[in-house]
Amino acid sequence: MANSAYCRVSAKRRCRICGKPDWCSFTPDEKVSFCARVTAGSDRISRTGWGIFHHGHFPAPETVQAPRRRPALLPRIAPVAVRDLVYKTLIELSPASDSDEIAFGPNGLAGRGIRDFSRFGYLPQTRAGRSKLARRIEERLIEEFPDLVEMRPSGPPRIPGLWRDASGQPRLGPDRDHDDPMLLIPYRDELGRIQACQIRVMSRKTVPRGRRYFWLSGPARLGGASCGTPPHFARFGSGPTLKPLLVTEGALKAESIVGSIKDLDIVAVPGVACSHDRIIAAARGRLLLIGFDRDMDVNPHVARAVTGLLRLRRRDQRRDSCDNGVGILIWDDRAKGIDDAILAGLPIHSVSVEEWTRMTGIR
Ligand SMILES: [Zn+2]
Repeated sequence: MANSAYCRVSAKRRCRICGKPDWCSFTPDEKVSFCARVTAGSDRISRTGWGIFHHGHFPAPETVQAPRRRPALLPRIAPVAVRDLVYKTLIELSPASDSDEIAFGPNGLAGRGIRDFSRFGYLPQTRAGRSKLARRIEERLIEEFPDLVEMRPSGPPRIPGLWRDASGQPRLGPDRDHDDPMLLIPYRDELGRIQACQIRVMSRKTVPRGRRYFWLSGPARLGGASCGTPPHFARFGSGPTLKPLLVTEGALKAESIVGSIKDLDIVAVPGVACSHDRIIAAARGRLLLIGFDRDMDVNPHVARAVTGLLRLRRRDQRRDSCDNGVGILIWDDRAKGIDDAILAGLPIHSVSVEEWTRMTGIR
């Protein structure tokens, strides 16, 4: 993409694949489009995750209408190919193995049965340490996408976690120093590209509920972009034989079990009520296994999320006139999460929705 022989899309000449006026490009003869947003149906996918579409000898449509949509609630963020480069660079420069606490401390990666530390990062505790990383990431971004990161009228690209301070210096993550090491947990899409990163504070102290995990973003008051609540695909194959899809909560949990469960594809939602539509789409044509925390029978919030997911699934299967089945996974409730159950070597059973309804009284 560093070749200046490429033309950038604009409001006058939108991308012929996604219809958007920014990020994507095409060759001067207009025979090839490089789409930053769409890979489905492409002739191939570039090293950096862009969809490459050859229009061949057929004339491409003259204009593509921008899709009509309700205005998005979130400000538009950089396409996943760009975010992926930023977050992969971050993890490469600051791998989880740089922190003993993250790798081997209590609640660390090793204790969770995770062997491949290179899939995670370490976010330095100090602002200065993070700013140094931010500068190197920006250099890499300019190297890979020179024509994309030049100052645009709308400002620098919006990448959750990367932002600029009042003096224009690149910054990364929270705007204050932290006492504890921070584990960086990537949330990958169906193609393995990192769409967003979550942070887990490796504190030995008790932390107010919910604040142990937060998304890598910049301060909202300074225009830091938000990443939304994407799911994490820990293992996801496509092809003629589809494995059943197990959905669990939290990318770290999914990564802890992916090594011990070989015969399932595994996806994690960041919260039980998030990303249901993407889960349903990913589970199309497969058996769907729900493995949320064991407290779902007693926790009304989780129970509601499960019934909501089941409803969406029924609707989706009806529309496709198929029944690929749903199983709800249960185990001894002394283990809260499926990762604890697996680590403890407890048997895990799949029950039907009807059985689960009978057992829990939830419908
Ligand atoms: Zn495009």
